[in-house]
Amino acid sequence: MNVIVVGAGILGASAAYHLAREGCKVTLVDRGDDGRATAAGAGIICPWGSAIEDAASYALLVGGARYYQHLLALLGEDGEQDLGYARVGGLYVPADARDLDTIERRARARATEAPEAGRIERLSAADARALFPPLKRDQPALFVPGGARVDGRRLAAALQRAALKRGARFCTGSAEIVMNGRRAAGVRVGLEHIEAEYVVVAAGAWAPSLLAPLGVHLGVAPQRGQIVHLRLPGTDTARWPVLLPLNDYYLLAFEDARVVIGATRESQSGFDYRMTAAGIAEVLNAGLAVAPGLAAWTLAEIRIGFRPLAHDNRPKLGPAPGCDNLLIANGLGASGLTMGPYSGALIAEAVLGKSPKLALGPYAVSS
Ligand SMILES: Cc1cc2nc3c(=O)[nH]c(=O)nc-3n(C[C@H](O)[C@H](O)[C@H](O)COP(=O)(O)OP(=O)(O)OC[C@H]3O[C@@H](n4cnc5c(N)ncnc54)[C@H](O)[C@@H]3O)c2cc1C
Repeated sequence: MNVIVVGAGILGASAAYHLAREGCKVTLVDRGDDGRATAAGAGIICPWGSAIEDAASYALLVGGARYYQHLLALLGEDGEQDLGYARVGGLYVPADARDLDTIERRARARATEAPEAGRIERLSAADARALFPPLKRDQPALFVPGGARVDGRRLAAALQRAALKRGARFCTGSAEIVMNGRRAAGVRVGLEHIEAEYVVVAAGAWAPSLLAPLGVHLGVAPQRGQIVHLRLPGTDTARWPVLLPLNDYYLLAFEDARVVIGATRESQSGFDYRMTAAGIAEVLNAGLAVAPGLAAWTLAEIRIGFRPLAHDNRPKLGPAPGCDNLLIANGLGASGLTMGPYSGALIAEAVLGKSPKLALGPYAVSS
């Protein structure tokens, strides 16, 4: 079966990889926009304590975290080892220590159905700091060992490479969808016309403008996130857990003496690809309030990404209204690195006519 996937972020790359594994002839098209979310995302995977209440969104979140182990095995079979994933644990560190009770109850209740969360335990302030040394001194914590981090750039690149090994083709450029009556005939990329039996639109925050000419009004908008990378060469950060203060911010470490503090949530930003004084001040203040030991670290990099945020906050996975061979995969918002690989696998199953592991009804795109 010929399938075109538009968008090679975490979601499109995953769909392309799973389709290629199943023997589809896949063309993956991407134009490398500034602000693509996967290249900016922080990479926290720790859903069990999340305050999210929508059952459908939580199902995708917890399923997404669980799916990682399977995905790592699949990519391993395809010779991919550089995935940027590590199960370092998640440390909940609310400003008001009394909130630990609430978060502990919630995480323990959810962990009964999610053993991958691991053995949840309360930590003293000293034990918490032993795990994440820049943490403030008097901060008790709740530790969830199943929490993980992922580098979206490295994982998406690995998925793309693995898809190519399985026969997929990568096409750089801007895709327009070509319709034949009520069916998608393929896409046009510059002068090239590529035909397909199915088209998957995983174009992130840019998808609404791609779909509008077809009369599909996708309720998704860009939400800018500005995110700060700090470095202190010589510091062994490889096993530091992700820090979740239970406000809009978080910290996580990568193995190259790097700590990332995220992030602004600017819903009226449009595609304004800029770092702002207020945005960076907001993120740094939030991060240093939790981890003052980072104050002397080097400000190494600032990334900017546009989260594809659904107006109703629920991911969109399924056929475009009135067009069964055009599938939409979008709206993963602030949790797309957690949900993305799994969502791509689910969309691939839908294309293949298999009954997806998670029923996609709740994520339907309405007309
Ligand atoms: C600052 C920040 C922090 C985040 N932190 C986390 C986190 O800790 N945990 C978590 O789970 N998630 C996090 N996320 C969310 C996550 O990064 C996103 O939800 C996810 O990356 C979205 O992936 P996507 O593939 O849908 O979109 P994108 O990664 O944006 O990919 C869409 C791709 O489509 C391409 N495209 C668009 N239109 C066309 C066209 N017409 N033709 C060809 N190509 C096209 C674009 O160039 C782009 O490459 C964060 C996001 C941001 C911005």
